[in-house]
Amino acid sequence: MAITKPVGTKDMLPEEATFWMAFQETAADVFGRYGYQPIVTPVLEKHELFVRGIGEATDVVSKEMFQALSDENLNILASGGHVKSKSRLALRPEGTAGVVRAVAEYNLVAQGAAPVKLMYAGPMFRAERPQEGRQRQFNQIGIECLGADDPSVDAEGIIMLMRFYRELGIPSESIRLLVNSMGCEKCRPAYRDSVKAYIMEHADCMCEDCLRRAEINPLRAFDCKNEACRTVMESAPRISEALCDDCKSHYQAVKDYLDAAGLEYVEDYKLVRGLDYYTRTVFEVQTVDANNNQNAIGGGGRYDKLMQEIGGAATPGFGFALGYERCLLALKAAGYEMPKVSACDLFIACVNDEVRARAFALAQEARDAGVRCDFDHQSRSLKSQFKLADKLGSRLVAILGPDELAEGKVKIRDMANHEESMVDLDAIVEAVKGMLA
Ligand code: AMP
Repeated sequence: MAITKPVGTKDMLPEEATFWMAFQETAADVFGRYGYQPIVTPVLEKHELFVRGIGEATDVVSKEMFQALSDENLNILASGGHVKSKSRLALRPEGTAGVVRAVAEYNLVAQGAAPVKLMYAGPMFRAERPQEGRQRQFNQIGIECLGADDPSVDAEGIIMLMRFYRELGIPSESIRLLVNSMGCEKCRPAYRDSVKAYIMEHADCMCEDCLRRAEINPLRAFDCKNEACRTVMESAPRISEALCDDCKSHYQAVKDYLDAAGLEYVEDYKLVRGLDYYTRTVFEVQTVDANNNQNAIGGGGRYDKLMQEIGGAATPGFGFALGYERCLLALKAAGYEMPKVSACDLFIACVNDEVRARAFALAQEARDAGVRCDFDHQSRSLKSQFKLADKLGSRLVAILGPDELAEGKVKIRDMANHEESMVDLDAIVEAVKGMLA
């Protein structure tokens, strides 16, 4: 049997691949207006980066990471040997850790320097159970701002993401913005302990997962889909009552900025997000479609301790990631249809083989002048060449015949209205450009 793609991955055929490129351009345009510059980091990083950055107790690291080993190292491990930690690699499950690593490695925010604003786009990998909107390889676009802890950074980032969705064409009434504060290293430990104690008090109603997590990451119980756990967690201690004064005023300032920008949001004390590194602001954007389990189309927050966790100098940070595939689902739910893409704008058809060399040269001339152009490589009949031009979505077809060429002329057919005109061979490229304009 022919080999097919791995489970949980998707191919983007030309129509979608073209859309994905335009999607990235929209993001670069919107985020560029806020001062974000592109960065490209490796898909492969050291496994340790994610263990230390994201946290060993998170689902992403403990269950979903794809580790990568060379054959040689795999054989060493299989025979009970030891492989150095630097040789243990992983396919990145998210983009933040890699960007923060690069910022530390190149000292992009020197002490006292202005914050660095970076954006990335590309594939992420998580060994999750695939379903609609949940893949093992999926694409994210994200931003990171490192070097400033001011609430204006958080608010600006959230506003920017909402602008992106608007620009993309996702109707604002089909999505909602949830915000919360997770506190800091001063107030969160006591809060965690109180949630853990609360879970233990209600242990007989909670699922195995929550009980297991209670030891290491009790806040994840707020995320649990189990009905009984959800009911118990409704009355759990709330972070809003546990924030220290600094976190309270930081959170209030973020909300004030959002209010001033006229952005609607819902405060959700249950929003804890899956990764360990968040401090203070966390947020998520969801589609309101109740039938959709995978309704998070983007989210992020502040991570003031992450840089230190991976061995860099203390540097506050804020970032978010949005899921390309889920944005596309949201767009489709709103009636969006992906535009058909044409492979060329000018197709050069040959009446017979005698003129093929001229067609070859003309195609080159047109391409050099910036026209998307193609011609038949298979000596098809003229009729089949027209069919091909149609299939490729070409707007124009130039018909090269020996008689016309002898007179220095070429016939051009407009495929939309089938009108034909004769143009001078010398001026054909300019004529085509005029017709396409
Ligand atoms: P996270 O890094 O978990 O905060 O995810 C950020 C965004 O990436 C989410 O809001 C989703 O839109 C998207 N995303 C996360 N995991 C997946 C997945 N397995 N498949 C498709 N999209 C995903």
